[in-house]
Amino acid sequence: MKTSKRMRALAGLTVALTAVTAMAPAPAASGKGASGLRMTWSSYHSLADIDAFLEQTAAAHPTTARESVVSTSAEGRPIKAITLGDAPGREQEIVLVCGQHAREWIAPAACTYLVNELVVNRARYPQLKDLTVTVVPVANPDGYEYSRTFDRRWRKNRRSGSSTRCQGVDLNRNWGYKWGGEGTSPDPCTENYRGPHAFSEPETRGLRDYFLSRTRKPAAVVDIHSYGQYILVPYGYDRQGHMYSDYQDLLSVGRQMSQAIYQYKGKTFRAGNAANVIYPAAGSLIDWAKGTLGSKYDFGLELRDDGRYGFNLPAGQIIDASTELAVAVRTLGTAVSGLPTAHSAD
Ligand SMILES: [Zn+2]
Repeated sequence: MKTSKRMRALAGLTVALTAVTAMAPAPAASGKGASGLRMTWSSYHSLADIDAFLEQTAAAHPTTARESVVSTSAEGRPIKAITLGDAPGREQEIVLVCGQHAREWIAPAACTYLVNELVVNRARYPQLKDLTVTVVPVANPDGYEYSRTFDRRWRKNRRSGSSTRCQGVDLNRNWGYKWGGEGTSPDPCTENYRGPHAFSEPETRGLRDYFLSRTRKPAAVVDIHSYGQYILVPYGYDRQGHMYSDYQDLLSVGRQMSQAIYQYKGKTFRAGNAANVIYPAAGSLIDWAKGTLGSKYDFGLELRDDGRYGFNLPAGQIIDASTELAVAVRTLGTAVSGLPTAHSAD
């Protein structure tokens, strides 16, 4: 990691802010996290807080929660995962990847909320009872910290480039399935720079290797973003509507998730093909999960809101946005539970 006077000063400021966050009272609605942790979901937290939360959750629930390091970022930060379930490796698995885009702060917040729910309030999620759920809360830790300390609107990772503006690769354009197509740029100075080649970045490479190293491929891969309130179904690399045999299964489950979210607080999440519902984007995680990994249920979720606050979703909405994610994952759990078990598939 680079050190400079400015960064050291900012690091000090971050520590100070973290201390303030730690002292802030938890809202009555959410209470504290597992074992009295300082994660409150009443504010957005630093990477250090999130990493500590994962560590402490795993330590407090050794039989059901297991922490691991998926990869190391461009600037040397660990990318952590937490796996929840009674028998990882034998059960069907749902994997959630959160925060590929740095400025979408609600993604890591909602994903850590879900982790806490699944350890503290597991009984509320009978649909996930016989499943393993793995969560990668911050897939782009360098970008997330940069967004928190230097530039709130930062999107990419922190690969070094020729100038400040030209740093970083859009991680969700760097995956290897149909890499380099529509909705991506070869120009390092753009927001959707796809990188010099597929999997050029340690973040995507590490996640890819993690997926491929699993005992069995996950039944579902969900990529969490904001904003827009969409449930996106692959393929998103162009608008040609490329079909696959179970496309209707995905669309149907996507619509069920949308209905479940609507029943919570009346928010509309539009479900449909990624390229048609928003815009074409080649080299995305969900396209790779479907086209290369061969996982069945692959979705991109664009969480709150519909544009009023955009990336700057007020912290007061973290719990509602997180609950909408939890409701969607619960619905997905019903679909995944209906698949053949690990044993019968062997
Ligand atoms: Zn995004």
